[in-house]
Amino acid sequence: MSAQNSNSTICKVFENNKSWVEQVQSTNPEFFANLSKGQSPKLLWIGCSDSRMAVDVLTKTEPGEIFVHRNIANRVPSEDINLLCVIEYAVKHLKVEHVVVAGHTSCGGVKAAMSTDSVGILDHWLRPIKDLYQANEAEINALPEGERADRLGELNVIQGVNAVSKLPVVHEEWKKGRDLQIHGWIFQLHTGLLKDLDVSVSGPKQVESIYLL
Ligand SMILES: [Zn+2]
Repeated sequence: MSAQNSNSTICKVFENNKSWVEQVQSTNPEFFANLSKGQSPKLLWIGCSDSRMAVDVLTKTEPGEIFVHRNIANRVPSEDINLLCVIEYAVKHLKVEHVVVAGHTSCGGVKAAMSTDSVGILDHWLRPIKDLYQANEAEINALPEGERADRLGELNVIQGVNAVSKLPVVHEEWKKGRDLQIHGWIFQLHTGLLKDLDVSVSGPKQVESIYLL
């Protein structure tokens, strides 16, 4: 065993991987041959990096079904080249039909944005969520304390949906007449259920004209 594998956590990962391969092959011998042929996901998931947001598990989907981008607090910064590349590739080349911005309850990133404690470089990343809190302080602070972070998390998702709907690459696809919808969801950790925030955008008519290039 290599030095890398001496750690029990790592050992467990490799053991589980092998066990998974055996399990999959026993029910579908062609699974990996088919997997290596390519991908045609219908959905792009932009979610939080939180380890509890196990996309495949909570959506009961198989490898190849969901294209994924994750960052802390599922932000959608229009100048983030990493995120922009993922969205452009998913929308333009993979032709996904749905883009989902997915937050979750009890998000540590959102909670940190509501605090005055420094979290290092994350202070910069979370600053727009702090600004969002500031802009909606009256509404959020009128809620019971235990519900405030989750409401800010919802507003952050709604802002993310709006940001995706303003991207030129999305408008280009709509101009081609392609069915492309953007959704905002919350994964509720206490129930395991996804909550649809009903803020879906499915065409340029739902976007302010100044953003239509
Ligand atoms: Zn989170």
